[in-house]
Amino acid sequence: MRSIAMIAASCTLASCFVQSAVAGPTRAAKSQAQPQTVPDPVKILVDRLDLERYKATIKGLTQFGDRRQGTDRNRKAIDWIEAQLKSYGCANIERLKYNYQPNPDTRTSMPYTAAGPGTPTPADATSVGGGRPRGLRVRTGVNNDPNAQPDPKLRELDLQPSAPGTREEIYCTKIGVTHPEEMYIVSAHMDGIGWGEAANDDGSGTALVMELARVLSSRDVQTERSIRFILWNNEETGLNGSGAYVEQRKELQGKENPPGSGRYAEPKWLGMIQHDMMLFDHGAPREDGTVSKQQRPEADFNIEFQVNSKFAAQSQALAWALEQADEKYASDYPARVSSHMTNTDSSPFMNEVAAISVRENERGIEIGNGWDPQWHQPTDVYATYYDKDFLLGLNAAQTTLAATAKLAGANLKLANSSGR
Ligand SMILES: [Zn+2]
Repeated sequence: MRSIAMIAASCTLASCFVQSAVAGPTRAAKSQAQPQTVPDPVKILVDRLDLERYKATIKGLTQFGDRRQGTDRNRKAIDWIEAQLKSYGCANIERLKYNYQPNPDTRTSMPYTAAGPGTPTPADATSVGGGRPRGLRVRTGVNNDPNAQPDPKLRELDLQPSAPGTREEIYCTKIGVTHPEEMYIVSAHMDGIGWGEAANDDGSGTALVMELARVLSSRDVQTERSIRFILWNNEETGLNGSGAYVEQRKELQGKENPPGSGRYAEPKWLGMIQHDMMLFDHGAPREDGTVSKQQRPEADFNIEFQVNSKFAAQSQALAWALEQADEKYASDYPARVSSHMTNTDSSPFMNEVAAISVRENERGIEIGNGWDPQWHQPTDVYATYYDKDFLLGLNAAQTTLAATAKLAGANLKLANSSGR
């Protein structure tokens, strides 16, 4: 028993083949031929994700404070993201331009901060998105008070107010080899609010998308279909960046330009996967209004589609594709599928194409009930989170990477054929 265990623990894919091949004379003869075991390319890609790299990318984003839209720190963050995408080899970097004039009724005008104590949710309550919330809940809101930020350096960094006007958001695209005219969209929003560092909301989703862009842009990776990585701006003001994208580009889908060139400015949308707040699943508020300081052992992340949308059936199928990818490839945490996607950048897509949202909790019944006390608060800073929080985000990254690689038909080029 002991020697078997030692062999298993010490063998790599290649050496395992050799060990099984030398087990008997007939197999030894076969070992002269090519190995029959083909490594799973999806597993190889997932293994290229790394907790420390993911954390470093989130940390990098927090140097621009809350990255509020319409400010210099937001524009500098976009430039920094662009430089990273370029260094990863993500090709075809472009910017969508649109104009944003604030509406006095936007969510950022809400004056109150999150607070307890936990009070029972009324039995007939319905959450935004249509779900039924349960248990105790606390008040949620957006902090707009600079003095609520105790760190003077960060307060100074977040000081410049948003000015109306021209906005930009960035995307890059991996072009499919056999179907450049079709694509999956993998996205997150890079703007934030609340006088913190927007580390979780949504540095964690932005870093996830950037890490996937890095892995899938590697020169030895080929995909049959295209994949576009988009970092939305103006999510926190009401999905204005993703809304502008749908409005400007939906009619361009699948048009070859110039004809016969094999080039498509806007490949046909096959599915849209949004990521927003990936780190924190510490459970429901307790009677005193607090939640656990630790990631709960039964933590999961949530894949939501909207049951009341035109593409509900297709979106649900996409959600289950991610759930299956989690079961096979995610290292630590499970994924749960639910049907009340709301208030996220996949909403403008949900009547055009299969669209889902990946998040630490359900947006309506859980986040809306106060499950994340850092949400839009000065405490949403990098230092708030522990490795088990970052690990939840990494598990979502493993899941979306695996699902997207499968759906887009990813393959690894053989080492000896690269560079030709
Ligand atoms: Zn968000």
